[in-house]
Formats: sequence, C-alpha cells, structure tokens
Amino acid sequence: MRIVVKVGTSTLAHGTGMLNVRRVERLTRVISDLKNAGHEIILVSSGAIGMGAGKLNLSGRPSDIPTKQAAAAVGQCELMYIYDKLFGEYHHNVAQMLLTADDFADGLRHDNLSNTLARLLQLGALPIINENDTVATAELGIGDNDTLSALVAVSSGADLLVILSDIDGLYTSDPHTDSSAELIREVNNADDVAGFAGGTVSGLGTGGMATKIAAAKLVNGHGMDMIICSGADPDLLYDICEGKPVGTRFRGA
Ligand code: GLU
Repeated sequence: MRIVVKVGTSTLAHGTGMLNVRRVERLTRVISDLKNAGHEIILVSSGAIGMGAGKLNLSGRPSDIPTKQAAAAVGQCELMYIYDKLFGEYHHNVAQMLLTADDFADGLRHDNLSNTLARLLQLGALPIINENDTVATAELGIGDNDTLSALVAVSSGADLLVILSDIDGLYTSDPHTDSSAELIREVNNADDVAGFAGGTVSGLGTGGMATKIAAAKLVNGHGMDMIICSGADPDLLYDICEGKPVGTRFRGA
C-alpha cells in the first residue's frame, strides 16, 4: 500500500514543546518496518513551530507571524535532524519537502511536486513533508497539516491517508467532558458527522476535528479512505496495514 501518514505536534512533542523521544522512536521504527515490508510511506509531519519554540525557550506557541516563522525555521532543522538520525538507524533515507498552497494550485509546480514525490518513492526514500511555514502562515497558506496531508494523499495517488491524533478517533461528543461520548468506527459520508467536529486544539498544535473531517471529505471525494487514530500507539499502523479496524475510518466514495 501507498500510505500518507500525518503526525501532529501533540504526538511528537510533550506539552513543554520538547521532543517526546519514546513516541518518535517508536513511530520511526514502525514506519521503517512497514517500508521494509514493501509499503510506500509518505510522512506529513508538523512540529516545526512547536519544536522551534521549545528550542528557543519561548513560552508556549508564538502568536505573531514573524516569531512563528522564525520558530519554524529553527524547528524544521531540528525535526529533520531527528528524523534523519532515527530513520538512518534503520537505513532509510529521508527527503524533506516544504510546500505551500501555491504549489498545489499552480499546474507546473504541482506537476513538479508530484514528479518529485513519485521519484523519491521509486528510489525508496521517505518523503517528509511540512508546509513551508517561513513563507506561508496559517493566516496566508494551507494553514494546517490535516489539509496538507489530504492534498499530498491526492497528489501522490495514495491508497490511504492515516491521521495520527491526540485522540483515538471521532467521537459523538468530546470524551474529555462527556462520559457518554462514543467512538464512531465508520463514516460513509463525512458531511454526516460535521456536527461532531467540536473545536479541540491542544497546546502546541493547530487543527482539530473540523480540519480532519474536511481532509476526509477531500480524499473520500477521490475514492480514498482516511483513518483517524491515536498517535500515542504507533503500532496501530501495523493493524491498519493488516486491515484490522482501528480508530475511525472514513470510507472513500
Ligand atoms: N506546519 C506547522 C508546524 O510544523 C504545523 C501545522 C499543523 O499543526 O497543522 O509547526
């Protein structure tokens, strides 16, 4: 399978903004193993701004655009350094692609990014994609990596988009505050669950359920399934590849 895996800041980092070493080590080990088993993986990783903020000792996620962009510039290096180091231990080559909304909107640029992705996969490399936050901000660009991962999944002709989240799927209401909240296992039409989006955003990340449901709508419209599951347990990616039910699956039309 060709799978786009999206991982958010809240999965990669502790609340302090510093790296969740155990989590990232497990994630890189599982992805390396799935590549060894013959799957093609594209990783869409957030974490640049959060890790930059941690590295620069800023208190929390910056709010002004120049500080966000500066934090992203620092954090993106750190992120790729860690991925290169950890995937390197399993002899996998990582490849950084930093993209903006214009790259998907402009025909020639879109062709170029699709060709690069395809060639990287042929060469056995692991593309690691983030928005180019130094020139595109949430205010001006794609804005969140749920949407970016959906665009990448469509452009790369993936079989599946997996969004690793700080929650184990889509619930009928917020399980943190409502004990009767139920996990929804399957969604056949993303429009039907728009009312369950809530508005949860954790400390360092962006997005929330609404952007994930919008991402599902986009990929489902191209006949592709999307799964939301917990990033706390990267081993779930094995279950997904074995076709076991995990998290919430949004079925492609
Ligand atoms: N591109 C942002 C970053 O790397 C994250 C966007 C998101 O969290 O969706 O920090």
